[in-house]
Amino acid sequence: MLQLAGHERGYDPGVPVVPTLERAVPPSLSPASRFWRICRIIFLLSVFVGPSPAALAEFPRKDPSESYAAARRVMIERDLRARGIKDAGVLAAMEEVPRHLFVPEKLRESAYDDRPLAIGAGQTISQPYMVALMTELLQVKRSDTVLEIGTGSGYQTAILAELVGAVYSIEIVAALGERAKEVLAGLGYKNVEIRIGDGFYGWAERGPFDAILLTAASPKIPEPLWRQLREGGRLVMPLGEERRTQKLIRVRKTAGKQVIEDFSAVLFVPLRGAIEKPAR
Ligand code: SAH
Repeated sequence: MLQLAGHERGYDPGVPVVPTLERAVPPSLSPASRFWRICRIIFLLSVFVGPSPAALAEFPRKDPSESYAAARRVMIERDLRARGIKDAGVLAAMEEVPRHLFVPEKLRESAYDDRPLAIGAGQTISQPYMVALMTELLQVKRSDTVLEIGTGSGYQTAILAELVGAVYSIEIVAALGERAKEVLAGLGYKNVEIRIGDGFYGWAERGPFDAILLTAASPKIPEPLWRQLREGGRLVMPLGEERRTQKLIRVRKTAGKQVIEDFSAVLFVPLRGAIEKPAR
């Protein structure tokens, strides 16, 4: 309520009166009590609104697995989805598998770049886009049995293991195959079997296969692999010579015949072993 203080208190009306607000505000606090009140508010805010002590304890550290997971999400959007990979299962598998564990330790920071990386023995882990494309072309389903030729790091093997019932993989370089076995076992994959040998001959005892994937280039489709492919099955491979233009193909077994489709031009390391022998 607005009142004229001078009238109320009987001052000389000649003295200029100053209008004041009464009862609209509480009596003003002394500077000292105002100070303590502010301190109390700050204290209460920090207790009820501020970060918990547990969060503060975590604050200076950065969880590396979380930053790799973030890198994977970027890889999915920028290198796969934006370039036309659509298969939801393939995208989910590539978001799940920790690719950095399949590359040598000193290359971990580059694991999610869209390029091949050296894995030793002159071999490379394929770039993420190529892994996604080849897996998508295989058109696998959960009940499928798949044969992979060229285990390498075991990364592609893990992606397949996320999607199908059983994966059989053959690697010609023993050191690579043994290391891939360890990494995959460490990650808990139970539906993978790896063998050291020449993949040219396939793995007849485990066949026939619903899908076969070669991750090394060959100038022709290895005959034993074709025989081990089930009717209606798909074989995906880079077809061509070493250091020449190769093309990614998908061969479907339809009524026992090869139905071949061409995809992009690619550059893969060559298939070694029996295929190289001139007599063939
Ligand atoms: N999928 C692998 C790619 C590895 S590169 C990855 O993403 O890591 C191709 C692999 O094929 C190499 O490891 C090479 O040693 C292997 N390879 C070459 N010739 C082979 C053969 N005849 N049988 C099995 N593996 C072979």
